Amino acid sequence: MIIVMNAHATPGEIDAVTERIKSLGFQAHLSKGSERTVIGVIGDERPVGAEVFEAFPGVERVVRILHPAKLASRDFHPADRVIELPNGARLGGKDVLVMAGPCAVESREQLERAAEVVARNGVRVLRGGAFKPRTSPYSFQGLGEKGLLLLREIADEHGMAVITEVITPEDVPLVAKHAQILQVGARNMANYSLLKAVGSSGRPVLLKRGLGATLDELLQAAEYILAQGNEDVALCERGIRTFERSTRFTLDINAVPVLKNLTSLPVVVDPSHATGKAELVAPIARAGVAAGADGLLIEVHPHPQEALSDGAQSLDPDAFGTMMGEIRRLAEALGRHAA
Ligand code: PEP
Ligand code: MN
Repeated sequence: MIIVMNAHATPGEIDAVTERIKSLGFQAHLSKGSERTVIGVIGDERPVGAEVFEAFPGVERVVRILHPAKLASRDFHPADRVIELPNGARLGGKDVLVMAGPCAVESREQLERAAEVVARNGVRVLRGGAFKPRTSPYSFQGLGEKGLLLLREIADEHGMAVITEVITPEDVPLVAKHAQILQVGARNMANYSLLKAVGSSGRPVLLKRGLGATLDELLQAAEYILAQGNEDVALCERGIRTFERSTRFTLDINAVPVLKNLTSLPVVVDPSHATGKAELVAPIARAGVAAGADGLLIEVHPHPQEALSDGAQSLDPDAFGTMMGEIRRLAEALGRHAA
């Protein structure tokens, strides 16, 4: 951390900052220029916030050197991380892992049909919400445990793993019993007790970026999970809120290469929630893979017009088949393999 004192900082103000640095167990390195004094804080600054020094009179600004998300950073873990699932599917590395299925588990018949469609297209991870975090309390909230049991049973019939969202810390053991990957939704990215609970669940976690969260905040949320000893964390760009109204959210395509530079955790793109429109899902999925995403999260419904949630953004079986063909060819061209 570097503390830049303002042009009128007095020797007393500089001393006060230096004393505070020492009292926190760091060394202070003073550099007096012709106009400014700059103080270097030597030591692992991560546990200390910039605001500790910003409060002092005479301080102009504080510049952090180390990213506060230490475990998530590529500096700490340079090699790309790969999450291995029990059925042999891999998230990260050379593979582009497609996780697909309905927004919500609605019925046995709906999930059977959706699972059959995605499995036929080579998908190894079935998605489906059992606990749904809906914007309105009057919207369909999911089937709960019954939905989890259906997911488990139907995914098993096709040798698929299950990814599903968990919305409270209390539900983590139940969801972890039936799902191989726990999803933390955008609305819960900063739910720190949930992050700790999934961190100690023993299951891989897909952490979705909050609707208004910066990439730094996403990485610090991932740090909560990693700090519990869970190394299997993947990050998901699912669109952020901007002034643009022609899509449901705005997919931040920059997030993919930016995150890949900052961290070795796998990065997933969710074009379904980002766009909110089925006809935009395939092009944005392709953009995600072209930008370097390690996985895609795609909503598929056997009859989108009848969906209880997110029908407008759900691909029907034909559209999903076409998209998978494109993703496979694109991945191949990039020296990767999509499944
Ligand atoms: C979902 O994937 O089911 C979901 C609710 O997405 P998000 O948390 O990104 O809105
Ligand atoms: Mn959805």
